[in-house]
Amino acid sequence: MYDSDIMPEYVSTRSKGDTESKSYSDVLLEGLARDGGLYVPTEYPHLTPTQIENFAGLSYSDLFVEVKSLLVGDSMDIQTQMQLADAAYSEEKFPDTQNGNITPIIQIDDNLYIQDLSEGPTAAFKDLALQAVGQDMNHELNHRGGSLNILGGTSGDTGSAAEAAVKGLGNVTLFMLSPLDGMSDFQRAQMAALSGGNIHNIAVDEPFDHLQAKIKELNNDPEFADLGAVNSINYGRVASQVPYYFSAYLQVKEGKVGEPVDFVVPSGNMGNALAAYIAQKMGLPIRNIIIATNENSGLDHLIQTGQYKKKPSSITSSPSMDIAVASNYERVIHDILGGNADLTRQYYEQFERTGLVDFRDIDRPSNLLKAAGFDSGNSNHDKRVQTTRRVYKEAGVIIDPHTADGVAVAYEKSQFEVPTICMETALPVKFEPFMQEALGFIPERPERFKGLESVSGNEGFVVIPGGSLGTAALKDYIRNNAQPRV
Ligand SMILES: *Cc1c(COP(=O)(O)O)cnc(C)c1O
Repeated sequence: MYDSDIMPEYVSTRSKGDTESKSYSDVLLEGLARDGGLYVPTEYPHLTPTQIENFAGLSYSDLFVEVKSLLVGDSMDIQTQMQLADAAYSEEKFPDTQNGNITPIIQIDDNLYIQDLSEGPTAAFKDLALQAVGQDMNHELNHRGGSLNILGGTSGDTGSAAEAAVKGLGNVTLFMLSPLDGMSDFQRAQMAALSGGNIHNIAVDEPFDHLQAKIKELNNDPEFADLGAVNSINYGRVASQVPYYFSAYLQVKEGKVGEPVDFVVPSGNMGNALAAYIAQKMGLPIRNIIIATNENSGLDHLIQTGQYKKKPSSITSSPSMDIAVASNYERVIHDILGGNADLTRQYYEQFERTGLVDFRDIDRPSNLLKAAGFDSGNSNHDKRVQTTRRVYKEAGVIIDPHTADGVAVAYEKSQFEVPTICMETALPVKFEPFMQEALGFIPERPERFKGLESVSGNEGFVVIPGGSLGTAALKDYIRNNAQPRV
């Protein structure tokens, strides 16, 4: 462990300078800041190349603590953090990994790699962060006394990954909203299998974007203001994603730290890409963070032109990236603006008022994000299909449609003069109809997922209507099922 002079303190991206700073544990339990902003640390610790080289050869769990502890600070002692990480990344939870490496690198072409991140309980990279968040929350609640009621929303993988992370924890109750239509059968069945006890699945008869508005509405209602969050607005999730970039780098560069690499990140809410940006700030030699989008290409447009435009999202065959407004972009831009909360607020107020904001509106150059190391490209259904075929044919590796968006963008944007590492975001097992279309067959399921869809209809879900009727029903449901906060 390294002595760091920086003890991270967290403030809101929209702070008016009148709120006190918080610790990691505070923001872990709070989720969204009360002023509508997102919590960020006031400063990032910096590691030297030698310090990073010393992480080579560590187990993922140990590497995780080395990196994340710098963001947690003294709000949990190191011994505790190590126990929590061991519980989060146990063999029981990550059964199919080889030699205990739960974030292995797979080479698929000259200087092109994929980092396998989806070997957790729900076959999504989200498990890696959420397993740790569940452990952190449980520990902190035991320590403080009391319980936490969490309201989350999902259009796909967050639901089951969050549920698998907090299932059975005595002091956490999770209410997970999902759209009645839109998720894959596999994703719905995963959530149904986890329902009961402290897990409440609530299917709402309206689209995902409306669900997010519902969650915001409840967060702004004083009666429900102390609901926690498991979406990547929770900084605990972001902090728990930073370590795997260190793991990827050390594996690809065989423990030698110096030469830069590029990361390609299939993006939706931009939590994963934010973690790459933080790893870079902490000293990991990353040249470019290349954001890959699908047809919902708002982030690509923003990075290329400096123009951020509100546009409704459309449904695609990489559904976990069907997001109109990437919530974690606010953390990125706040940092690039030098932590200037006033300017961040001004920028977002214009965006929210008019649906369009340009960097020139705040006297910044159009290439602001590129200058900070970001690049981008977009993919579509056809490119996903072609790329999935190509990677299978040339490397014998089967990738899911979201990872395929990343690899498609890598092939388009990268000159491969430095190693390019694409983050895998889910296992193909979750998207069988797509795999059938792309490959002409359905890959064999890992044993633990066989027979999953045997639940029928809306079993495992409470169904409520959309609109204001649904909001009233949701409030009633939470009132009746929440644990007293103590
Ligand atoms: C969540 C998710 C993404 C997007 O990740 P962000 O951190 O929201 O950008 C991409 N692919 C899959 C499969 C996901 O579950």
